[in-house]
Amino acid sequence: MVHFVGAGPGAADLITVRGQRFLKEADVVIYAGSLVNLELLESVKKGCKVFNSAHMTLEEVTEVMENAEKEGHVTVRLHTGDPSLYGAVREQMDILDEKGIAYDSCPGVSSFCGAAAALNLEYTLPGISQSVIITRTEGRTAVPERECVQAFAAHGATMILFLSAGLLHKLTGQLLSGGYKEDTPAAIVYKATWPEEEVHLCTVATLEAVAKENRISKTALIIVGDAVLHNNYERSKLYHPEFTTGFRKGVKKL
Ligand code: SAH
Repeated sequence: MVHFVGAGPGAADLITVRGQRFLKEADVVIYAGSLVNLELLESVKKGCKVFNSAHMTLEEVTEVMENAEKEGHVTVRLHTGDPSLYGAVREQMDILDEKGIAYDSCPGVSSFCGAAAALNLEYTLPGISQSVIITRTEGRTAVPERECVQAFAAHGATMILFLSAGLLHKLTGQLLSGGYKEDTPAAIVYKATWPEEEVHLCTVATLEAVAKENRISKTALIIVGDAVLHNNYERSKLYHPEFTTGFRKGVKKL
């Protein structure tokens, strides 16, 4: 059995209770060494074999899983944040399917949730944005043309950019030509929830300069949109005294 487990964004106590239990029980752990907090590995049992996938190919990773399976061992594949986002998990699952090895997934706290926590943000503010666009600018991995940053920028919604902190010159051009304004609020969140977390508020126009000034080019999220400054949003209907829900009767003010 293989458990794909989300390690959370950084802080070791942000793994789920279930993920922590799987880790404690594992005979083999393969962790994404570039971003997983090593503190998490302190809880593995004695004799557990630990592999850093940063030095491995897909074939090597699945070979370790296959060998573990042959011995009746349980493997945890520990991915950063939530495995479903830029986690390269599907390709592993397809190989496990071919080999007839059972697996399941345990969600994790994605870094975009960690970044919201770092800024005390609500991404979906009434009257400002009711959508969160999670995307990236093109790097060595292509982005389908219809999903280019310019196309998404036209919505003016809250946008979160993964894997783009080293490409800010290009990104800023795309954000502006797509429709955000130069003074649209933005934030750079470096290593959200880690002890070395940094939060920098800026605007779309100053993203590149602020990142450069703070020597940030990786392990950061870029957040764009008016939700970052949260001025002039509308209060929620859900908690309005006049609004009736299945749990509470609203009362009209006379
Ligand atoms: N599955 C992960 C994302 C993996 S892609 C998740 O759900 O968070 C790796 C990218 O995620 C990094 O380049 C960076 O953009 C972002 N990232 C991961 N951890 C981060 C953190 N703690 N703070 C800021 N960005 C982070």
